[in-house]
Amino acid sequence: MMVRITLDMDDVLADTNGKLIDIVLNEFNTLHSREDFYQHSFRELLHPKQLKKLYSILHQPGFFRDIPVVENSVEVVRELSQYYEIYVATAAMEFPNSFREKFDWLHTHFPFIPWTNLVFCGNKSILSSDFLIDDHVKNLISFKGKGILYSAPHNLKETGYNRVANWGDISDLFLQKK
Ligand SMILES: [Mg+2]
Repeated sequence: MMVRITLDMDDVLADTNGKLIDIVLNEFNTLHSREDFYQHSFRELLHPKQLKKLYSILHQPGFFRDIPVVENSVEVVRELSQYYEIYVATAAMEFPNSFREKFDWLHTHFPFIPWTNLVFCGNKSILSSDFLIDDHVKNLISFKGKGILYSAPHNLKETGYNRVANWGDISDLFLQKK
């Protein structure tokens, strides 16, 4: 049986945070720099009213359609899929507008992942997988396999998980001996 690796979508495959940072820098009144937003969560740097505005932007139709792909993710996932069973699991229920956009995005950028391996869910504790790579600790806590934390500004202080900073790290972790 092949080892199963499940990948989160936002901030693992899709640079959702990068798109949000661009929006904040271009459209919000902020004195913070791009670097500040790489080091700290929006919650730490934005006023509650700005946070609310940012959250409403996430709910707008079209937001998830043109998110940039995380660097090197396509190449590494393609190689991983030769040796592992690859699934993508996204907590899309939070943003019902996003279903079609996320599906189309995955089909565009990761056409080699079959639709049978795409999971749109509310709570990731339902997943059955050997590994889950995710940027949110809340998804790793309830996960029954091995959780791997993908670094993001909102999780830099977490210490309880194996951490990867980029797709080069994931390649080192899973493909080194192949
Ligand atoms: Mg995520």
